[in-house]
Amino acid sequence: MPASEKGVRSIEAVGRDAILDAVAMLREDGVRLLADLVRIPSLLGQEGPAQDLMERVFRDLGLEVDRFAIDEEALKKQPGWSPSLISYEGRENVVGIHKPHGTSGRSLILNGHIDVVPTGPEELWSAPPFEPVVRDGRLYGRGAGDMKAGIVAYVMAFKALKSLGVQPAAPVYLQSVVEEECTGNGALACVARGYKADAAVIPEPFNHTLQIAQIGVIRCELEVTGRPAHVLDTGAGLNAIEAAFQVLKHLKTLESAWNHPDGRHPAYEHHHHPYNLNVGHIEGGEWASSVPTRCRMELRFGFPPGRAAFNVSAEIERAVAEAARTDPALAGITARVIFRGFQAEGCTLDPEHPMLEALDAAHRTIFGTPAPRLAQTCTTDARNFILYGDTPATCYGPEAERIHGIDESVSLDSLAKVTAVLALFMADWCGLEEIS
Ligand SMILES: [Zn+2]
Repeated sequence: MPASEKGVRSIEAVGRDAILDAVAMLREDGVRLLADLVRIPSLLGQEGPAQDLMERVFRDLGLEVDRFAIDEEALKKQPGWSPSLISYEGRENVVGIHKPHGTSGRSLILNGHIDVVPTGPEELWSAPPFEPVVRDGRLYGRGAGDMKAGIVAYVMAFKALKSLGVQPAAPVYLQSVVEEECTGNGALACVARGYKADAAVIPEPFNHTLQIAQIGVIRCELEVTGRPAHVLDTGAGLNAIEAAFQVLKHLKTLESAWNHPDGRHPAYEHHHHPYNLNVGHIEGGEWASSVPTRCRMELRFGFPPGRAAFNVSAEIERAVAEAARTDPALAGITARVIFRGFQAEGCTLDPEHPMLEALDAAHRTIFGTPAPRLAQTCTTDARNFILYGDTPATCYGPEAERIHGIDESVSLDSLAKVTAVLALFMADWCGLEEIS
């Protein structure tokens, strides 16, 4: 036997039932870790304390830890970079590195984002968003589903294998990254640092589906300037808030064109309206008695896979310039577009990819039926691995409700099942070897 295969154990020798029992034994451990993570409000810019916990978790698993700051200047030169919203000070990525004794299997990246989206009005929540509550088999709290449960799932899957005296027989990288929700620069920084593998799995809360496509997403600000005036003669002014809504009408024609069934990307041919334009934030004017001079809208565009982000942003700019030039309702106003946040291209994965087959086999062991394939209508960090990291990537994670909404929750049964699927998949994909 070659030295590299010393101590190799097949998944059959270890036993699938033994792996499932080991996962079941860790269920309460997992719920505790999830509650601990939800309790830390890792909103954009405040990810540091949650990353401290992830560093401890990775060390407790016996992993080497690579905690590194995001070098924004270097990252700007990287394809896939999105203009940041805030500084990266105190917001590192944390990677737990498993190095096998010998490599007989295929390497794997397990990636999750630690950042969570804003809570919305807290008084609408049944319980405060960062005080986790378990009710009717679900854990409630901001980030519970998106995607702290996914992080818990890959941690517990790895721990379950170790509890049986075995470990993956290939390098495995457990990544906890910042800023997935508005740029994806956290995962991109992992790619830029050289992390790649034979497969990457991101346990986003997509209800046990296997992601095979995701759309592109661009975020930008539309800034409209009008002319101030006293409201005794509104005709003397140009109302920037009303003008911004008029520009928005023109931008909606882009959305309609991209969603037209003719020429729609094949992965989305059964979707009624995959590419959505959302006004997420608006600011403008000063008070009720002046015609407002300025209005700023934050916009998010979805667009088809296969299109370069810079072409789409140029199309948006052209549409705004054209509207300002030709629409009489906009005469005299100025409008400009500032691109900040996601400049994220869409991507696809071969539905027959061996990683998907292996995940599907693990899924069938637990659920008895094949995992549905998903063409997702948002973006995820999978694009960074697929497009820029030479690493095939998919999402497979638990069932969650009201992510990005009020009273977000995740099913704890579903979390246990995803943990089991990931443990079986890791054993199969990476192979197993004795720890000592
Ligand atoms: Zn997410």
